Amino acid sequence: MILDEITTSVVAQLDDQAKLGVQVENQNEVPETGPANRGLWLRIPNVTAVFADLKGSTALSSTVSPEVAAVAYTYFNRALSVILERFSAGYVEIQGDGIFGLFSGKGSMFHAAACAITMRSQVEEIVAPRFKRDASVQWDLKVGVGVDRGTLIVRQLGLRGTKLNEVWAGKPVNMAAKLSSVAAPNQVAVSERMFAGYEVAAKMRQRALIWSCGCNGNNRGAGLSAASGQTSKLWTEQAAPKSLGLDFGSVHTRKSGWCQRHGAEFCEAILTGRRPAG
Ligand SMILES: [Zn+2]
Repeated sequence: MILDEITTSVVAQLDDQAKLGVQVENQNEVPETGPANRGLWLRIPNVTAVFADLKGSTALSSTVSPEVAAVAYTYFNRALSVILERFSAGYVEIQGDGIFGLFSGKGSMFHAAACAITMRSQVEEIVAPRFKRDASVQWDLKVGVGVDRGTLIVRQLGLRGTKLNEVWAGKPVNMAAKLSSVAAPNQVAVSERMFAGYEVAAKMRQRALIWSCGCNGNNRGAGLSAASGQTSKLWTEQAAPKSLGLDFGSVHTRKSGWCQRHGAEFCEAILTGRRPAG
């Protein structure tokens, strides 16, 4: 009987895996692929995960033809893959209406932050209008971006004949995915611990992580070069929604993308940790 055979196979598989156990090797950098060796996982500390969620994808799929949805998925994932690559994400995975990248090593927190804000800006300014035009539909593509940081372990899982896939265990990917759903359309949401990192960095040299250029979109603001200006905090704090099972008490969200005039300067300052000259 088929069910008996299945039960026997499942039990044999679990016996096998239980015998192998979980062996963990430490590593500093996020690998492009996880180990496929039996029982071996890699542990990487201080990984920053950036998760981008295509907002309203269920409604999109039920409203437009599969071909139009295909254009949306293609533009969204291709654009965000390029952005993740340009900010040197160590690992990238596409999940249809979502995509995430992992950053590790020195400066990963800053690369991830600049990447998240760039994703939000590019979707609004480049991807969404292009999709509307090319697909001839009245639909605004929008993204929610979540960011968290912590330790991850990874390995490949899969049987012969099924696709081997990286499996990431640990908080950051999961929490970043949840944060991307907390983020309103075209907003970035980061965990309490992530924002604590921004605040420490902002006290040193990284004002651009938290503070605005002060021009309010008027393009006449001070930017980073001024000693003082009418700058304001770009992030607001809210209580973490109870239902999501987040392991921190507050979420920090950011509405604005890059300023048209000062954005390039601010992005550069976040990546290099240097104030621009002048
Ligand atoms: Zn500005």
